[in-house]
Amino acid sequence: MKPAVECLAEQLRAAGWLGRLSAQAPLAPYTTFRIGGAADLVVEATNSAELQQAWQLAHECEVACLVLGRGSNVLVSDRGVRGLVVLNRCIGWEISPSGTLTVASGMPLTEVAERTGAAGWAGLEWAVGIPGSVGGAIVGNAGAHGGYVGDVLTGITVLDHGQVRGLTRDELGLGYRTSMLKTMPNCNGRPIILEAAFGLRPEDARALRQRMSDLLQWRADRQPQQPSAGSVFKRTTQYPAGFLIEQAGLKGKRLGGAQVSPQHANFVVNTGDATASDVKALVEEIRETVAARFGLGLELEIELVGDW
Ligand SMILES: Cc1cc2nc3c(=O)[nH]c(=O)nc-3n(C[C@H](O)[C@H](O)[C@H](O)COP(=O)(O)OP(=O)(O)OC[C@H]3O[C@@H](n4cnc5c(N)ncnc54)[C@H](O)[C@@H]3O)c2cc1C
Repeated sequence: MKPAVECLAEQLRAAGWLGRLSAQAPLAPYTTFRIGGAADLVVEATNSAELQQAWQLAHECEVACLVLGRGSNVLVSDRGVRGLVVLNRCIGWEISPSGTLTVASGMPLTEVAERTGAAGWAGLEWAVGIPGSVGGAIVGNAGAHGGYVGDVLTGITVLDHGQVRGLTRDELGLGYRTSMLKTMPNCNGRPIILEAAFGLRPEDARALRQRMSDLLQWRADRQPQQPSAGSVFKRTTQYPAGFLIEQAGLKGKRLGGAQVSPQHANFVVNTGDATASDVKALVEEIRETVAARFGLGLELEIELVGDW
């Protein structure tokens, strides 16, 4: 282990993280692809103070610090991640009588949708079934069925170079599956989302439950069940990426343990023993084939993280 990482491991132990600190821990179990090599150090933060402390200690030891939510929009390299990976498991939410939802960034988005819906608050019901955290969903401005995080988000609290500060929705530069956070270099330079505020509206809880149940059924009918990171590419201005991939004859195409899902062509699935290199090579082949066939460039929706 490098001296800086050793120093951080000691600092974390001294700060009481002992039982929750793993060295050389494989990241595959923390991603929905079930792929990824080891990180030098992994900790799990269960509240905002822990998230801040982990970042602060990494900063003091000059070790890179990467925050992962539910790992559902990333492809982690087979070589893993150098430095500290903080798994964001910060949970908690409350809603004011006027519909302002304040929620910890590690809350699973689908749980937030279900709980607020059950309490008769609308605005996030479209997100049911998205397997990410609130923080990850804001970074990528997640969306489905015509809804986007940015439609109801009003602001966030971030840890930015050691300072806790607020950012309004307008300061986030939200766009289709992106934000100014997503365009910043990951690890240390990018602010860490601690908490978010959403403006919800009252609606009949029974109607919301029915809508969410329909949306879950829609996903179950159309999306593959094997490990994946959801849609790999963003839609182009003219066509959905899956349509182009299918028209290029790539549906079902295999490379090592990775496969273009026979069910949904914009999903690359791990058929059991896929490596990150398999997925990356398949992704590159898809891009090249679609560009050669249609003259259109596909842009990644998932993020490649780690030591490539
Ligand atoms: C089966 C399946 C279906 C999906 N369906 C959809 C869909 O319908 N619509 C959609 O938009 N997406 C979908 N996704 C993709 C994914 O679930 C979302 O993008 C999700 O919001 C990502 O959240 P996460 O917590 O998993 O982020 P992660 O993958 O953990 O992280 C993504 C990026 O955000 C950063 N990050 C995470 N948390 C924080 C934080 N607190 N502060 C700062 N940076 C942070 C990470 O460092 C990383 O760079 C799907 C994925 C799967 C596997």
